[in-house]
Amino acid sequence: MPRHHQIAIDGPAGAGKSTVARAVAERLGYTFVDTGAMYRCVALAMLRSGLTLDDAAAVGELAERLQIEFGPLQAGQQPVSLDGQEVTAAIRTPEVHAVVSPVSAIPAVRAALLRQQQAYGEQGPVVMEGRDIQTVVLPAAQTKVYLDASPAERARRRHAELPPGSGSVGDVEAAIRERDARDSGRANAPLRAAPEAVHLLTDGLSVEQVIERILDLARAAVRAGGSR
Ligand code: C5P
Repeated sequence: MPRHHQIAIDGPAGAGKSTVARAVAERLGYTFVDTGAMYRCVALAMLRSGLTLDDAAAVGELAERLQIEFGPLQAGQQPVSLDGQEVTAAIRTPEVHAVVSPVSAIPAVRAALLRQQQAYGEQGPVVMEGRDIQTVVLPAAQTKVYLDASPAERARRRHAELPPGSGSVGDVEAAIRERDARDSGRANAPLRAAPEAVHLLTDGLSVEQVIERILDLARAAVRAGGSR
């Protein structure tokens, strides 16, 4: 049993993980770790240093050296800094988006970030969000939630966030299905729910309903284990 309460939230892109996981962390006063943002930092650093996906070993070494830091959560937002420089917006550009999934499939990159993620889990109570948290990063987490939504619903949500003229909902859905296949099909740490995870299908649920459901699970885990 981990010393502190660990809440592991996994699921595919567009399932609503980030919004919900941030709110749960903020309300409980736990540290929030967005592991997707960490992979995005490695992708950004790769692009900035002129490396490409063909330089897997060098990208792995880069991931070892990077200093990724998360600022305090405030109103659902969390600043991210890379080697002391704020990159909160820079890691969300289309250029980073285009390479982050293959960057995250490089074994040396995953190994480097795994160590940092597990260290966060040891430091205090944490909400960690990603693809492999409940199966690989924090396998002993007391609370494990797998958030999902149908591809059509996820495409509708993503499309609504994009600037006008960014393509049709159908295009977004095709991209989502492709990313799902890549993230689930890779041999190393694929997207997958732990058998003991609570599955939450968020189609038709409000953000508040999903947050409340996870808070109920978290409180039950604290009562059961007495840990925090
Ligand atoms: O969650 P987000 O969309 O920001 O994650 C960006 C990418 O990082 C995902 O598409 C996935 O390929 C990768 N990722 C991962 N393992 C995690 C979190 C994210 O492979 N734990």
